[in-house]
Amino acid sequence: MRYAIVSDIHANLAALQAVLGEVGPADEVWCLGDIVGCGSEPDECVETIKQRASVCIPGNHDWACIGKIDIADFNGDAAAAIMRTQRRLSAPNLAYLDSLPETVTTGDFTLAHGSPREPIWEYIIYPGTAKANFAHFCTQVCLVGHTHLPVMFQEAKSAQKPGASCQVVPIELGNWQPIGRRRRIINPGSVGQPRDGIPWASYLLLDTSRMMLEYRRVPYPVEMTQRNMQKAGLPPRLYLRLGYGR
Ligand code: ZN
Repeated sequence: MRYAIVSDIHANLAALQAVLGEVGPADEVWCLGDIVGCGSEPDECVETIKQRASVCIPGNHDWACIGKIDIADFNGDAAAAIMRTQRRLSAPNLAYLDSLPETVTTGDFTLAHGSPREPIWEYIIYPGTAKANFAHFCTQVCLVGHTHLPVMFQEAKSAQKPGASCQVVPIELGNWQPIGRRRRIINPGSVGQPRDGIPWASYLLLDTSRMMLEYRRVPYPVEMTQRNMQKAGLPPRLYLRLGYGR
């Protein structure tokens, strides 16, 4: 079975459509949260995810839009986008976001937006944080988003040794690579707000029968998304950064 892992769409419909256009009709889609926030098409993105994703968990922006997190916890630009999203989202789509479980475990995979330890808020950027999180899930792999940076961490060989370090495994773009036997925490990067310096939408394909994965990047009409965000009156910083993927 093949799965497309998408995360941090941030109401960027063109980026989401570009990714789904590449994904086969038989592939299941798993979404790691932050469907909304930042962008100008929240309803359209929630509708698309509702139809296409078999599994979905919420992110911090989704929770802010349904009032589960205080908007004061966000910077001014993000808070402005959240307030606009709250006014725009339909009641059924607000209810959908409210219905999502914080984490999901399915087969060999645990799904959490930030981390298995603190699913909504914790950022796993550094190996030290990744290392501490291996104790907080039981499956072979944990899929996370939230940082908008594609990365793969592997548990140390002697996980019980206090000094054993957790490794970053190099990502091969556009090539199938084995997940391996050691436990991993894997981030597919962001569909709608990439922050690794590459503006193209980022996602991951998983082949669970072979336990292989492939990172992919897809071009999409960034200028169209920027124009839509500008027309919607969203803060310039939120759409200008799409042009350089930061
Ligand atoms: Zn996000």
